[in-house]
Amino acid sequence: MKDIRDLSFDEWRDELVRIGEPAFRAGQIFDWIYKKGATRFEDMTNLGRDLQEKLGRAYLVGRLELFGVLRSKDRAEKYVFRLHDGSRIESVLIPAGNRATVCVSTQVGCKYACAFCASGRRGFVRHLTPSEIVGQVLFLRDHIDTALTNIVFMGMGEPFDNFENLIKAILILNSPHGLGIAARRMTVSTAGIIPGIERFKKLGLQVNLSISLHAATDAKRSGLMPVNRKYPLEKLLAACEDYLREGGRKLTLEYVLIKKVNDGAEDAARLARIAARLKAKINLIPFSPVIGLAFEVPEEGRVLDFRRKLEAGGVPVTLRHSKGRDIQAACGQLAGI
Ligand code: SAH
Repeated sequence: MKDIRDLSFDEWRDELVRIGEPAFRAGQIFDWIYKKGATRFEDMTNLGRDLQEKLGRAYLVGRLELFGVLRSKDRAEKYVFRLHDGSRIESVLIPAGNRATVCVSTQVGCKYACAFCASGRRGFVRHLTPSEIVGQVLFLRDHIDTALTNIVFMGMGEPFDNFENLIKAILILNSPHGLGIAARRMTVSTAGIIPGIERFKKLGLQVNLSISLHAATDAKRSGLMPVNRKYPLEKLLAACEDYLREGGRKLTLEYVLIKKVNDGAEDAARLARIAARLKAKINLIPFSPVIGLAFEVPEEGRVLDFRRKLEAGGVPVTLRHSKGRDIQAACGQLAGI
């Protein structure tokens, strides 16, 4: 059985035509799935009995099974889903007034083993399918009152390591036949997988890109992020420049601030130079504690001081006080176990 939610609108239309159905049915069925939240063909009342049965024999409409919800003091919510193979994934809902951002996972576990992150500690299990990626957003849309305005691919996993499924999910979320979420309201975050940045650039999507930098020298970055040995800083920055030159939208550099590890004056000066070179904004994220890790959270004064140093270098900075720490839902705390 094929999951229709693994297909982009164009793929589904081609598929229907291939099985001898008129192309206009594709829009009707996508409407049922993405606008009305239907998961059973017998509920799609304008299709006719024969078509409902024919589709039911060959296709299914995947949906996620909720395992549990945790609500944090600061209103962030962690949704844990159990997949058909028993794996668990997590999505975080981050409300802001009457709007909300959803942080979605793209893999079960992660291959990249950044020293400060919970997701990599359990190792890699598998890629999520497009249906499982989109399913996280759909589930939330159908179960909460708040309007979902932004999608960030910053949950468990490395989006560019699951490139094709990520892009298909983006197309489905973006399509007017799908969820109709504007590309500019979506952000992909990468640990700096250069081939991914290059492929992403070629697609010319209007989706935002964030680079997880976290250190401004190779020695320090390789210590925190083993991926830096494969894709070292200078090559990464050159790939970013290339991305911008060829029309990519403004980049954001994420920087997890860890006490006495990367929060010194020299770190700030180097980071400011990199940001200036890329004309990028810096998103400063105070380290979120991870069970079993010895890294420490920097004091607020130290964080503000680091920010001032960057701003003095003329770099725009946003400070992300990551929500949901008390329920292990903050940046870097998603482990899906
Ligand atoms: N693999 C992608 C997507 C994960 S996004 C990436 O690396 O960008 C999650 C963001 O949270 C990344 O910037 C990640 O580096 C950051 N992060 C990881 N562990 C963290 C922690 N303990 N505290 C704060 N941020 C963390």
